[in-house]
Amino acid sequence: MTVRRISILGATGSVGSSTLDLIRQDRDRWQVVALTANCQAQELARLAREFSAEVAVVADEAHLPELRGALNGTPVTAAGGAAALTEAAARPADITVAAIVGCAGLAPTMAAIEQGQVVALANKEALVSAGDVMMAAVERAGTVLLPVDSEHNAIFQCLAGNDLAHVRSITLTASGGPFRDWSAAQLAVATPAQAVRHPNWAMGAKISVDSATMFNKGLELIEAWHLFPVGLDRLRIIVHPQSVVHSMVEYRDGSTLAQLGPSDMRVPIASCLAWPGRMDTPLPPLDLAALGELTFRAPDEVRFPATRLCREAAEAGGAMPALLNAANEVAVAAFLAGQISFTRIADTVAQVLDVSNDAAPPRSLDDVLWIDRAARQRAQSVLELV
Ligand code: NDP
Repeated sequence: MTVRRISILGATGSVGSSTLDLIRQDRDRWQVVALTANCQAQELARLAREFSAEVAVVADEAHLPELRGALNGTPVTAAGGAAALTEAAARPADITVAAIVGCAGLAPTMAAIEQGQVVALANKEALVSAGDVMMAAVERAGTVLLPVDSEHNAIFQCLAGNDLAHVRSITLTASGGPFRDWSAAQLAVATPAQAVRHPNWAMGAKISVDSATMFNKGLELIEAWHLFPVGLDRLRIIVHPQSVVHSMVEYRDGSTLAQLGPSDMRVPIASCLAWPGRMDTPLPPLDLAALGELTFRAPDEVRFPATRLCREAAEAGGAMPALLNAANEVAVAAFLAGQISFTRIADTVAQVLDVSNDAAPPRSLDDVLWIDRAARQRAQSVLELV
């Protein structure tokens, strides 16, 4: 049995926990290299002890003394801060699961890619912001980016053994989120507690809000555009409330291949961990007879303008996707903090994009990070938070 070295960036989060759950099942196959968090030092220390990690890192250095205290007397190295996070991501590993939320995950993900590690990417904001810069790094390093996002993982599986040149279209499915059937008047007064209550998936707060606004699907459209270069005009979105069909690829001969499965992230994560093979997951088999019916409908871009804004940002190219992502991150944080209304999230992103159409395209990681910082300031001033 080959033991594989794995690092998990964002180990204390929803995707991180699902990944560790799979590793727990088959403990002897894995050597855990680095586990990281932002500020949950106690939880990170608990995981680092359980999985005998080589290093545990809190990105927020203020929590390093707490982490050190919690790991005292163990062989785990404790570290903190942005540089330590990037150094940990660059440690030799066979696979790195990039599961930090937001553009904060970009630099460590790039560090793992540059070391030639296979990266299982959940952190869609990093790819949306860095786009061509990240894909060029993947190519330079001669490595593989495995998509963890259930839709992209589905597409990756449906494309296996096929040529992109034969693809007529790729359709991303969207649950439509908790507000799928809400009126514009209801959306205007939606609360953070309502937004994070997703009907099908248990996820972190930020992606849950993105799912409610449909920015999640828009970000996924940009993610798919980079991962599967068939052209934006061949990428579609369809609302599928049951979240059973995770995405589809239509070929030129009229065949459509779809991937189905339970709405549990352990399925796409397992597909990445075992790639190019397969592994068991502790999930009940899909029971289509019990589900009864699968339904589909077109997205409503009037109530949910996010997918249109994302498509337009991708079409404009250059710095626009990074600007859009940063503005969305700021607006979602403000909504979760009770500072702005739900519908103001998309309005803020639109306003930031309107005033930023002269930004130069990023050519390096530093360029992307600079654009990200500038867009955050702009979003904060649009929201009058500075
Ligand atoms: P969570 O909020 O549950 O977890 C985020 C993780 O990132 C935590 O470990 C957190 O640490 C860490 N983190 C947060 N901020 C920073 C920072 N500034 N620097 C370093 N680390 C940080 O998020 P999810 O697991 O839900 O999502 C992670 C990523 O995966 C997102 O990009 C999301 O879009 C994507 N994704 C998630 C899915 C899901 O089902 N959850 C599905 C598909 C994609 P701490 O705990 O200390 O705050």
